Amino acid sequence: MQRTQRLIWITIVLLGILAVSTYMYMQSQSAWQEAYKRKVSEGIINLVQNNPFDRTPVVVIVIDGLRWEEGFGAQEKYIPNIWTKLRPQGTILMNYNIVSPTVTTSVHSAMLTGRISTVPNDGHIRPVFPTFIELYRDARSDFIESRLREIIAPNAGFYRPDTQTRMEIEELANDARNFGPDKTALYLGKDLIYSLNQSSSGHCPDDDVFLIDSLRDIEVYEYFRAKIPDVKPNMVFMNLGDVDEAGHEADWYYYVDTIRWADRLVYQMYLSLQELTRYRDNTIFIVTTDHGRHSPDRGGFPHHGCFCEGCRKSFMLIIGPGIKKNHVSNQYHSELDLAPTIAKALGYEIPSATGSPIMEVFTVAENLPQPCSTEVTKRLAGDIERMESLDAPKLLLESAIKSIPAGKQLD
Ligand SMILES: [Zn+2]
Ligand SMILES: [Zn+2]
Repeated sequence: MQRTQRLIWITIVLLGILAVSTYMYMQSQSAWQEAYKRKVSEGIINLVQNNPFDRTPVVVIVIDGLRWEEGFGAQEKYIPNIWTKLRPQGTILMNYNIVSPTVTTSVHSAMLTGRISTVPNDGHIRPVFPTFIELYRDARSDFIESRLREIIAPNAGFYRPDTQTRMEIEELANDARNFGPDKTALYLGKDLIYSLNQSSSGHCPDDDVFLIDSLRDIEVYEYFRAKIPDVKPNMVFMNLGDVDEAGHEADWYYYVDTIRWADRLVYQMYLSLQELTRYRDNTIFIVTTDHGRHSPDRGGFPHHGCFCEGCRKSFMLIIGPGIKKNHVSNQYHSELDLAPTIAKALGYEIPSATGSPIMEVFTVAENLPQPCSTEVTKRLAGDIERMESLDAPKLLLESAIKSIPAGKQLD
């Protein structure tokens, strides 16, 4: 009897201990779930607010076919706003030369990819190699994924997130993945490579690109004003095509008047960025041209397309955080250096570029972010030779020749 009673008591005590410890475990388990969720959401908020890849938007404006003589060579004569108002805020490159064939699409292709590629001059075939914008997008999403892995890791041996917590965390992680610009890239202008949203890396779907081609300069300006606050792009590439078109008309006064217009629009676009907190004083703002026009002894301003000094000599102005102000560089550079310079400033790599970053534009080179290597850049680095064979000049020249209607002049 006594033995049975003792057993009952022991069982009651054990059950009591079990109940209390289960209760305590449940309490601490739910406290842990809450603490874990708090830690993750704080980490995610910190990630989206301080993502270094969202810190510096990039805006590149190409004034199509503005010759050196009427550009930086004439100082403020035709481009008074760029020369007197924008130039002191950044670095100008006075020994900047086009090494691609001096026609629009080839040079745009080289500016975007950092290497010479032979593409037809009508924009219907995109360069084989990825653009600095596509690689930026890859680097940004790689960075977010690797930070999310660190943030989400539970690092507590005893506890595990339960199903409910896991679902909530996944939702937060998706918010972080989708946070940011409505479109990564905004392309506006005339004679753009309109096939750019057919991405070679497969990492820039066309729904992440806003591209409008065949615009007059004033329309580029109007779209720019309307779209920047709307889609908040991180990367903008524009081609002001009216100067080139006016040049081909062979009417000198029309040509220089159009340059003055382009100058005014570039400055207005700069001012409109300054009105927006997202862009004010933290945008890398580049003004350049894709080629010049013939030297006087090669036919003069109406046309371009050869390797004479007039066609090749070009210029670049670069303004932005970490860029020297009121600085003049006389070092030799080309359009192949544009993409690597942007990648350097933002902290990623373009292994397929043959150009190099323009280091003298940076105030303190040591402060530049450490370049991160993404899965895409690693794969690309091992794939250059194969891709190059796809880029064989013969292959593309053949299709280029087929795509040009008989009698049409390359411009
Ligand atoms: Zn052009
Ligand atoms: Zn020429």
